[in-house]
Order: sequence, then structure tokens, then C-alpha cells
Amino acid sequence: MPDSPQHWRSAPDSQNRDILAAIRQLDAADDAQLRWLLGFLGDLVYGDGGRMHGATVRTRPIGFEAWFAAFDRTLHQPSDPLLRQVALQYRAMSDCAGALQSRTRERITPAEFDRFADAVVHYHGSLRALERALIHEACMADPLTGVWNRSSLTDRLGAERDRVQRHGGPCSLSMMDLDHFKDVNDRHGHAAGDHVLRAVVDVAKQHLRRYDLIFRYGGEEFLFCMPNISAPEARNAMDRIREDIAALRLALPDGGAISITASFGVAEMDTHHPIEASIERADRALLTAKSCGRNQVRIWSFAASAPHTGSNWIANASPEGV
Ligand code: GH3
Ligand code: MG
Ligand code: MG
Repeated sequence: MPDSPQHWRSAPDSQNRDILAAIRQLDAADDAQLRWLLGFLGDLVYGDGGRMHGATVRTRPIGFEAWFAAFDRTLHQPSDPLLRQVALQYRAMSDCAGALQSRTRERITPAEFDRFADAVVHYHGSLRALERALIHEACMADPLTGVWNRSSLTDRLGAERDRVQRHGGPCSLSMMDLDHFKDVNDRHGHAAGDHVLRAVVDVAKQHLRRYDLIFRYGGEEFLFCMPNISAPEARNAMDRIREDIAALRLALPDGGAISITASFGVAEMDTHHPIEASIERADRALLTAKSCGRNQVRIWSFAASAPHTGSNWIANASPEGV
């Protein structure tokens, strides 16, 4: 089904858009907390319960629950523990505020006030930590496609390798490269090329599982990391992605459509070597897919290669057509 070319330039990266929206919400929560704090302290100082902002002294920033619920829906999993921390600190702050409110001004002890001050500082600190985590997350995402960018690759794949080392089980990598993509840019322009990149990533996302990772490895090259599946299983998954990419028809303003194909190289992660070695294997399998005619999936296999010694083992390895 062809899509509509007028969306090419404006198609937003939904992951980054959500994160940026969450950061804006955090800023608004921060402002609301400051306003609330000043009002609450004013009420304590003046003791008339209404001088600063109405008849009732509030022990919580206005609208926090609604904000929290909206924020919870917007957030991505990596920030969840921090969000829980914010909620805990918020409750502690509200409790301390309630304790102060239940006293007259004269009977509030310095220790009680210090507890409240500490709770405010901790709540504010947890909001800031959450904001830093979100900014970090936004920086790690590729702005065009919303998948992880290359700078997050070593850390994330290194963590995945450690996990596989601890718990066992396979983990497959696949390098995907679009075929003759330069021609798309040359013929239809860079904006059309960008649109193709986003469309291809959307196809991949439809086939991958929630805990699979997608990295933009280079311009039109993407690396998939698929925990708990063997190379042949990953090959089948890649084949489905490959077929759906080849079936894409991306509409052109003149009524035509862009078609594209992609080549894939699959390799199972080898935890006895640095992660770069496994990436190199996937890349070698991809090169074979390219040299064998493109629009296909190849698996790297050690079987056809000589036993490796030292640093020359990669050069010995050869991908196996399956
Ligand atoms: P092959 O089948 O051998 O992979 O051929 P290819 O044309 O895909 O490979 P080549 O490396 O010659 O060209 C890659 C092109 O990808 C060139 C570059 O302009 C384009 N490209 C890289 N990043 C982007 C991007 O973000 N947007 C667009 N539109 N094009 C990009
Ligand atoms: Mg290419
Ligand atoms: Mg390339």
C-alpha cells in the first residue's frame, strides 16, 4: 500500500518525541513544585491558611497525580526505577508537609522542619536524576529513525554479552544494509532516501520483539541484536523482514513508487571474544550476501573456516550460504 509523500519531511521520530515531551513535563513539574513550596511555606509563616493561595493549605503540589499518571504512560522502561524513586520521594515530601501542617507554627520543631527540607531536596534530586536519564536516552537515539545510535552500541551490546555469559543461551546479531541505496538518493533526492530509511526501520520493528535491539550502525546500515535466538532462527526472522522490505512501495509525488531491497548477515554472538569480533562476523556474512547478488540473508559459520589463532581468526572465517 503506497504511503503519502507529503509526510516525508514531517514524519516524527516517535521515541525521541516521547522523551522530549517527558523532559518538558518534568520541567513543568519542577516549576509547579517550586510554586507549591513557596505557597506552602507562606502558609506556615503567616498561619492563616489562605493568605497565599486560597482557603486550604495544600500539602501536595497541585495536579501531581494526573501529571504522574501521564508521565508514567509516556516513559520508556529504562527510566522506570527512577520514576518509582520520584514517586517515593514525592510521597515522603507530602507526608512531611502533612506533619508540619498538623502543627501550629510555634510547635514546629527545628528537627521536623529539617525533615521536611530534606524531603524537598530529595524529591527535587530524584526529579533531576530522572531528567538526566531522559536526556541521556534522547542523546543515544538516532534522530532520523529513533533507533539506538552507534555511540550506545558498545555499552549496550557489551551488557548483552555479559548477560549471555552469565545465563547462557544464544544471542544473534544481524547486520542489514540497504541495496543500491545511493541510487534512491540520486534519483529521488535525499528526503525520499530519509523516508525509505524510516520505512525500513518500521518494517524491522514490526518483526522484532520488544527486547530486541536495533542500532543505526552507519548511514543505511543497521545492526539487530536478538537475545535467546539461534542464528538459523534469526535468519528466518531476517528473511521475513527482507520480504516485507522488498514488498514496500513508497509513493512518489509523480505517482510512481520507490522499491528497495536489503541484504543481511547473521552471526551468533561469541562471548569468548570482544563484541566487535561478533559484529565483524555479521559484517562478513553481509558482504557475502552482497557479493552473491543482494536481497538475501547469509549466516556466518565457523565450520568452513580454519581454526583461529590469535588475531587472524576473523580473516580465516568465511560466511556460509544457507
Ligand atoms: P550497496 O548495495 O553496495 O550497499 O550500495 P549502496 O548504494 O547502498 O551503498 P553506498 O555505500 O554506495 O551508498 C550508501 C548511500 O547511503 C550513500 C549515502 O548518501 C546514503 N546515506 C547515508 N546516510 C543517509 C541518510 O541519513 N539519509 C539519506 N537519504 N541517505 C543516506
Ligand atoms: Mg547499501
Ligand atoms: Mg552501506
